[in-house]
Amino acid sequence: MSYIKLHDISKKFHEEQALGRLNLLIEEGEFVALVGPSGSGKSTMLDIICGFEQSDSGYVAIAGKDVTDLTPKERDVAMVFQNYALFPHMTVAENLAFGMKIRKIAKKERQMKVAEVANLLSLSEYLNKYPKELSGGQKQRVALGRAIVREPKLFLMDEPLSNLDTSLREQMSSEIKKLQKVLSVTTLYVTHSQDEAMLMADKIVVLNKGVIHQVGTPHQIYQQPADLFVASFIGKPK
Ligand code: ADP
Ligand code: MG
Repeated sequence: MSYIKLHDISKKFHEEQALGRLNLLIEEGEFVALVGPSGSGKSTMLDIICGFEQSDSGYVAIAGKDVTDLTPKERDVAMVFQNYALFPHMTVAENLAFGMKIRKIAKKERQMKVAEVANLLSLSEYLNKYPKELSGGQKQRVALGRAIVREPKLFLMDEPLSNLDTSLREQMSSEIKKLQKVLSVTTLYVTHSQDEAMLMADKIVVLNKGVIHQVGTPHQIYQQPADLFVASFIGKPK
């Protein structure tokens, strides 16, 4: 049984087709990169999986269960966005602990978890700092940390590194990849960078105009592009 199943998912916004009859299977523990030009429907697909948007047709199943009637909270999914959405008036430690506080996890346990995740993300020295005192990369680490402390079954990341400069992106993308392997959390990672997808993903999904053109390993996508669109999109220079 696949961990995520998208079955016949369509979505229109004001008569414009954002997604057209998508079918996709993602296996447990897989790192899947979703690539495609701007406006191809990548964010819409993530929003439908996490429950921010409802599809017009079809259904999403997570771990074998149709989640159509579940709220985003009930889906056990953590989203990471490009705008870090940290609380400016809270320290790094408080930002990391926030989700656990809401879930009424005991203080002692919260502190242990924060220390563990801070260590994992090289944030231990910054726990008492405020977001405005951090660099872009550090802020993005805190955002990731906030997702990790929730111990979700599924990570959905929507271009999480696109606000960072190139060298930081490269560093962070390899860190995210390592973390994903350590935690072995099923991850769907949206990027408009073909290079990032090729380096990070177990499987790449190529989307254009709301339609999936190809699903395959980086090797397959590169060596045997399914059509001209995939060939030119993947082959594009950086
Ligand atoms: P991507 O993330 O690949 O850039 P999106 O999923 O954001 O693409 O958008 C896909 C299409 O749906 C675009 O044409 C976009 O304008 C449209 N769209 C997305 N969200 C909305 C919305 N909330 N209201 C109206 N149109 C939207
Ligand atoms: Mg988007």
